[in-house]
Amino acid sequence: MNKNLKKMMTYYRPYRKIFWADMLFAILDAAVALSIPLIIRYITSKVVFMEPDQALHKIIMLGIAMVLMVAVGCYSKFFICNYGHVMGAKIEYDMRAEIFGHFQKLSFSFYDEEKVGQLMSRITSDLFDISELMHHGPENIVISMLKILGAFVILLNISPRLTVAAFLMIPFMIVYAYFVNRHMRKAFRQNRIKIAEINAQIEDNLSGIRVVKSFANEDIEQKKFRVGNEGFLNAKRNSYHYMGAFQAGLGSFTTLIQVCVIVAGTYFITQGSVDVNDLITFILYISVFTDPIRTLIDFTEQFQNGYSGFERFMEIMSIEPDIEDSEDAIEAPVLKGDICFKDVSFAYNDSTPEVLSHVSLNVPAGSYMALVGSSGAGKTTLCSLIPRFYEVTSGEITIDGIDIRKMTLKSLRNQIGIVQQDVYLFAGSVYENILYGKPDATEEEVYQAAKNANAHEFIMSLPEGYQTDIGQRGIKLSGGQKQRLSIARVFLKNPPILIFDEATSALDNESERVVQESLEHLAKNRTTFVIAHRLSTIRNAEKILVLTEDGIAEQGTHEGLLANGGIYEKLYHMHD
Ligand code: ADP
Ligand code: MG
Repeated sequence: MNKNLKKMMTYYRPYRKIFWADMLFAILDAAVALSIPLIIRYITSKVVFMEPDQALHKIIMLGIAMVLMVAVGCYSKFFICNYGHVMGAKIEYDMRAEIFGHFQKLSFSFYDEEKVGQLMSRITSDLFDISELMHHGPENIVISMLKILGAFVILLNISPRLTVAAFLMIPFMIVYAYFVNRHMRKAFRQNRIKIAEINAQIEDNLSGIRVVKSFANEDIEQKKFRVGNEGFLNAKRNSYHYMGAFQAGLGSFTTLIQVCVIVAGTYFITQGSVDVNDLITFILYISVFTDPIRTLIDFTEQFQNGYSGFERFMEIMSIEPDIEDSEDAIEAPVLKGDICFKDVSFAYNDSTPEVLSHVSLNVPAGSYMALVGSSGAGKTTLCSLIPRFYEVTSGEITIDGIDIRKMTLKSLRNQIGIVQQDVYLFAGSVYENILYGKPDATEEEVYQAAKNANAHEFIMSLPEGYQTDIGQRGIKLSGGQKQRLSIARVFLKNPPILIFDEATSALDNESERVVQESLEHLAKNRTTFVIAHRLSTIRNAEKILVLTEDGIAEQGTHEGLLANGGIYEKLYHMHD
């Protein structure tokens, strides 16, 4: 068995009992379907010729037996449908939990490459296909094979000639069904693609509705949408075409098989080689073996979908995080925040040039350090090496003399607070979003953090104060307010090391002033890296580093650098 298929089987393991019960009921279901025509045959060929009293007794017994069998068949179908689906859903639950856990572990480099939205929708539909296959697959094979083989053996025993007549059309039916089904599935897949496109279009349009309206481009948007909408309509038309051909074709084949059996059967009756009861039995068995053929044809498609979904699932599960705790990683002690870059070089991957080469840098604990330089110089990159979002290509970074690769990621990142230009707020209340900085904080601590971040007042003026729902991505808050929430979050976290990456550059002057105040308050007594957009905000920095594509070009205080008349001086006069 191939490796992925073997792996797939392991997901049944926790549900062995349901699985085998499912198989048992599948066998019962097939057994009932196969036996009832045999009982009817016994009645029409034997019971009708018995003495009236004996016949009455027999028919009552057989009637009761058949009702019981129908009940067994009914419960079997219920069990398979109910618990089979539950088993599939549990397996899906396990896989979803597993892949979500894996997503939490994967490194930044993974998310740089993969489009998260696409990844997510693919996983959702893949997991559904997998679960469908995993629960329908085994039971469909068991039921269908048993029914087809059982019917074949029983009919062969009754009349080999008539069996040939009954199965004559089967190869044609299979070929027809197989090809039409393939087209039909392809058309349905196309439907799925088209509807996904439409949904993406709607989502994009609604997210950007403010832009649409401000450019007064509603009619263009509608025209664009019409193209997608028509595409979906046409795809649906196409799929219904094949669905019609499939349903009508298979229905007709079943009738044709009946015609064959009746024509040949009548002929054989006139020849004396078959009797009327044999013919009735054959007619009763026709749907017992034609329905499963349809099921098996569906299964081939189901298998392809489910299995290729599982392969993609395994593909993602087998991606190792680039950055993990080393075997001998230690819990970092409470850090003072003495940061050293020792001959650090870094490239995002093997095929791109180095962003940083041989950078050495010493930032004493508690100091306020500013990074300036043109866009793309590598400021964000340099800072993202400190919390180990990416791994240095060579050299080392130490905090309080300990190589950061020797610390556990959790104990390292717990001691670094980052405030970026783009604030991401989660769905939920203001309170919950601040609490994110320290999930076990008390209410008092949360309020204090908000006060420290200059956020308490505006929060209190919101309709429901701290319990106000932020809405998706904090749309109801201004940029400056969102930024102050993110600062409150870091206050609550209370880390010894801070990174402000152009934290105020998206703000207007007034908000910038308020946020800047909060940031300076936050930076007190902590080691702080400030990446500044406006140089006026970093005048007080103890040291300013000027980063260019060639590395650190200048360093010193504001006054010193200005007096130098180098790059800094040029940048300063360009901006302010
Ligand atoms: P700055 O913050 O100084 O504007 P960055 O550190 O963002 O500069 O980027 C430095 C260089 O690294 C740029 O050339 C940029 O294109 C590249 N870069 C940034 N992020 C990534 C990434 N995730 N993957 C690959 N290259 C990147
Ligand atoms: Mg940047």
